[in-house]
Amino acid sequence: MKYGLYIHFPFCRGKCDYCGFYSIPLLKDELKAVYLKSLDRELDMRLSSMKDAEFDTIYFGGGTPSLFSPEEFYTLMKSISRRANLSHDTEVSMEMNPGDARTDRIKGYRDSGINRIILGVQTLTARLHDVLGRYSSVCTTSHLDEFFSVPDVVHCVDLIIGIPGETPGELEHDIRALSSYRPGHISAYILSIEQGTPLEHRYEKNDSLDEFQRERYYQAIHLLEKSGYVQYEISNFSLPGLESRHNMKYWTFMPYLGIGAGAHSFINGERYCNNPSVDEYMHSSELHITIDKRTRESAVMEYMMTGLRLVKGIDISSFEERFGMKLNKETLSYFADLDGRGLLMYNKNIDGGNIRLSRESYIIADSIIFGIINVMGGNF
Ligand code: SF4
Repeated sequence: MKYGLYIHFPFCRGKCDYCGFYSIPLLKDELKAVYLKSLDRELDMRLSSMKDAEFDTIYFGGGTPSLFSPEEFYTLMKSISRRANLSHDTEVSMEMNPGDARTDRIKGYRDSGINRIILGVQTLTARLHDVLGRYSSVCTTSHLDEFFSVPDVVHCVDLIIGIPGETPGELEHDIRALSSYRPGHISAYILSIEQGTPLEHRYEKNDSLDEFQRERYYQAIHLLEKSGYVQYEISNFSLPGLESRHNMKYWTFMPYLGIGAGAHSFINGERYCNNPSVDEYMHSSELHITIDKRTRESAVMEYMMTGLRLVKGIDISSFEERFGMKLNKETLSYFADLDGRGLLMYNKNIDGGNIRLSRESYIIADSIIFGIINVMGGNF
């Protein structure tokens, strides 16, 4: 079984109004060297006990990893390849802010070993960028021209859809403009109005927002498919063969090691979480890692939640084998009932078959999955 390696960069230039992630402003450049040294220390410690593990994906996420220079990435990649057993075709991804999308800089990241770059476009429309309260400036054609001019990397873009007030014409413009560059991968996330964010104080979540976001979501699927993109997860689309191998590990319960303040790991069926305090991570001589104990029920729920987000759905026999349980009659007839109502596709066969959400259910995935978990209660 091959592992993924996730490296977390919890720094940003400032805070965006819609952001519910934990990140801190990088106030002093000197902090970068201290943080990199701490990453190095953790890599050394954790990889020394995983000598037999082979890693076939690396993902630099944040925060804003592109705050760190190509030279800093070069040193970090050297440190990783010295300590980890990497596959010959390791997928190495990093997230990038549009303001950092300069040709020379991108070439530098590529030459350090990165072969997949995810540009956080979010929207090309200045008015919607202001609604979001993005800290950085809006992504422009010149950012895109520079980003896509660099060969030998898989170009990926992230979009936010269903921003309050977004018109069908604005969404169409963004998708057409981006897909004309032929990125290998497009993520289209529905805006989530997170509790406690400045955006939450400006907008109330209500039924009309749900309906509006539903319309934009299905419009996005339609436009992306027309442009040749294949949907493989509720919010993710790619050209054939360019799905994110790293994210697939999360969605299919494959193991990964997380390095950095607040990073999560999933190893030997156990979840671990690093202390999120950046200060402590950089200055304490010990690493504080907690085991995130899950009940069987919550593990099943998580498996359903992630597996059913995939267009291919869940293979029932793999599920039963993983959790050492047989789905009871009530659960199977609930699948048949959902299938009859057009909410789930239940393909039964001698090995158990497969379940997957119908396209109409993508937007209400959470409520369908909660319903399934509820009925499965008798299985625990
Ligand atoms: S750049 Fe990303 S992680 Fe940083 S504050 Fe903005 S949305 Fe959050």
